[in-house]
Amino acid sequence: MTQTYVPRETAVVGNMQASVPAAASIGADSQNLTVQGVVRQFGSTRALDRIDLTVQVGELLTILGPSGSGKTTLLKIIAGFEYPDDGVVLLGDKDITSVPPAKRDIGMVFQNYALFPHMTVAENIAFPLQMRKVSKSECRDRVQNALNVIDMAGYGDRLPKQLSGGQQQRVALARAVVFRPKLLLLDEPFGALDRKLREQMQLEVCRLQRRLGLTAIFVTHDQEEALVMSDRIAVMEAGKIAQIGTPESVYRRPVNRFVAGFIGESNLFEAQMLDGNRATIAGGISVRLPVSQVPADRNIGVLLRPELAKRLGPDDRADTTLTGKVQEIIFLGESVKYRVRLDEGMEVIVRWPCHAMEAGLQPNDRITIGWNQDDVHVIDWN
Ligand code: ATP
Repeated sequence: MTQTYVPRETAVVGNMQASVPAAASIGADSQNLTVQGVVRQFGSTRALDRIDLTVQVGELLTILGPSGSGKTTLLKIIAGFEYPDDGVVLLGDKDITSVPPAKRDIGMVFQNYALFPHMTVAENIAFPLQMRKVSKSECRDRVQNALNVIDMAGYGDRLPKQLSGGQQQRVALARAVVFRPKLLLLDEPFGALDRKLREQMQLEVCRLQRRLGLTAIFVTHDQEEALVMSDRIAVMEAGKIAQIGTPESVYRRPVNRFVAGFIGESNLFEAQMLDGNRATIAGGISVRLPVSQVPADRNIGVLLRPELAKRLGPDDRADTTLTGKVQEIIFLGESVKYRVRLDEGMEVIVRWPCHAMEAGLQPNDRITIGWNQDDVHVIDWN
């Protein structure tokens, strides 16, 4: 039996005022997706190395990873543009590993919109319905509903070149969902948009995906985008899934050095276990580890997130204390980042909300910073 995912809470902002009846009439025939033991080899490059993945009905899973980690190859295999050397892809209970792309009932949105330039907006959205031989009257209704859902009801007769980038991407989205796909694939769909529009579209896509109950896979190399949009994130490294989990879990509890360094800003140090729950890092600095994370393995690292640092006054104490000199102050709007050179020679980054500026720190000021035991995270250093 298919288990339906209970989606995350998403902030309701943006201007895509999808009415519930309109969205419901587009509907969704979402299925869960299972990837089992998928391998893809290109010459000596193992682009995918035994990938196992399940995306539940109504879930938005993001595949996040650096360039060359295998994201596109995995997406192409799911879409049917590539075939695996080994392994299977199931949509619902059906093995689609060898089914051609057009027969998979998968909606797709790419970075470059890929709208047909000579067709109007309405014709673009109608295209997948015509391919499926949907009757003219139903086609008209569904296109109109799709236009309502993307808040572009009056735009049906325009050509793509008469639309802004964000509007074109909305049309691409409508075209990808109008035929009630079993799965929606989004490949870096906002790469060409400016930052503000990108953030707006992220939330709009989340809303539409939730409203329609779409099973969706989103590919990006932008970790902030992944944190904002996803129910779960699969972090890829060199053809493997390094970690899969909720945005919070991959951010707060990365399993290894790669994930810790790739998601969020981090102070990462190799560490040697001492007795009890203490470890030392370079310069002989002693770090107290959370009791729940004392490792059996001696080959560990510690992650000290910049925003969890506390600034310590002369009488303040913390479980782990570092002292150094402020090298650089970077104003980021809502927060301020300080690059600190420790007395032991290493650098750390700390970040505090903007009002920390009032403390009046200047470059070359001496500073003592600390992390509480439970704000330290132990990772695998292998
Ligand atoms: P990007 O973010 O840059 O798009 P990616 O994570 O999507 O990267 P892939 O495009 O899946 O990575 O590539 C994974 C690996 O497979 C890379 O080393 C790439 O060079 C290699 N590769 C991909 N397609 C082919 C191909 N058709 N022939 C040979 N090697 C390929």
